Amino acid sequence: MPRIFFLDVTNRDGDQTARIGLAKLQKTVVNLLLGELGIHQSEYGFPFSFHEVPYLNANLALQERGAIRNIILEGWCRAIVGDVEAALRDTKARHFNLSISTSDQMIQNKFRGRYSRSDITRMMTDAVDAAKQGGALTVGVNAEDASRTEMEYLVEFAGAAKTAGADRVRYCDTLGCDDPFSMYDRMNRLAKAAGLPLEVHCHNDLGMGVATSIGGALGTIDAGYDAYINTTVNGVGERSGNADLLSCILALRHSPSCRGRELLSPRIDLAKAWRLATYTANAFRVPIPLNQVGVGANAFAHESGIHADGALKDRRNYELYDLEELGRGDPSCEPTGREILTGTHGGAAGLAHVLQQELGVEDPPEERLRETLQLVQLATLSTQDTLTAEELRIIWEHPDLAREIVALPSPT
Ligand SMILES: [Zn+2]
Repeated sequence: MPRIFFLDVTNRDGDQTARIGLAKLQKTVVNLLLGELGIHQSEYGFPFSFHEVPYLNANLALQERGAIRNIILEGWCRAIVGDVEAALRDTKARHFNLSISTSDQMIQNKFRGRYSRSDITRMMTDAVDAAKQGGALTVGVNAEDASRTEMEYLVEFAGAAKTAGADRVRYCDTLGCDDPFSMYDRMNRLAKAAGLPLEVHCHNDLGMGVATSIGGALGTIDAGYDAYINTTVNGVGERSGNADLLSCILALRHSPSCRGRELLSPRIDLAKAWRLATYTANAFRVPIPLNQVGVGANAFAHESGIHADGALKDRRNYELYDLEELGRGDPSCEPTGREILTGTHGGAAGLAHVLQQELGVEDPPEERLRETLQLVQLATLSTQDTLTAEELRIIWEHPDLAREIVALPSPT
């Protein structure tokens, strides 16, 4: 039976969003926490970009050591041979998504008539071929602006991708202009006609990013193929954002058209959903809205008399799902007394205290402490924030890889 998988693009679409971004160590922790949630794949960066290369390779090494688990790390490239060759040469990444615009709007007004539809198809198949010949294990092909692409050409494009060896095609609702019904219909037709699994990538310009994602995934499933929903943590992403990861999972678990169908991988475990949402919000410096699905401060709050009375009698009166399912429940206390933190200007004694408090490390050797302190200082240089326990653990347990992640790469 076909299934729905999640492919999170926080470290690509989220990271490229105007005004916000993540340090490489923060991207690393996002990969780690996504793996703990049982998310199938993380689009973890840009392997043709020089400043991403050390981080991308170090994260693969962390995966080999078991520090990042249960997740495929995949790089995003333009669907041009040059990007693919650079990615294969400079990184050990072997899972890729290759992107090119397919709508007449973009072919005529972005590429300014330089390419015909057949040129676009050929560039894509050449890029897929280069990736496969170079040892890529999976290749997804992204039809950018698929929503505004004529169906006949989209089917032809997807069929050519499949023939070239692509494992799936990404239907990109790049402008967020589809709706759940149009998405169901178009992706159902595309999957049937092209005969391969599809990814659904939705933006939120009409406020329907989650709904269109669910519609597209169900259309694909009902055509008999696996679907891969692209999401971001807390819905961060270009303009009005992408489909929110937690909202999509909860919709598949609890909405009438989905529940009971066993569409989701049993590996998905939301016990870390709260931590992932709060970590990512802090890292992006984008607060979680009060009414955010599942993780907002009001998601399980009841004040009005009728609601409070009903929720106290039986939580199901006013709560659709359980807060414990999402890793909520423990009171979170902001420390108000003395705090010893570590950061750019930290010293050895403070760091030793934090190591003991956060990781239970007792009396670390002096040389190890000095090395860790340098890495902590480097790591916090770009964020000007104090380290979290997850970040400190990576630095402490994998100093060689942490150095690659936090050091500024030299321009090539
Ligand atoms: Zn996007």
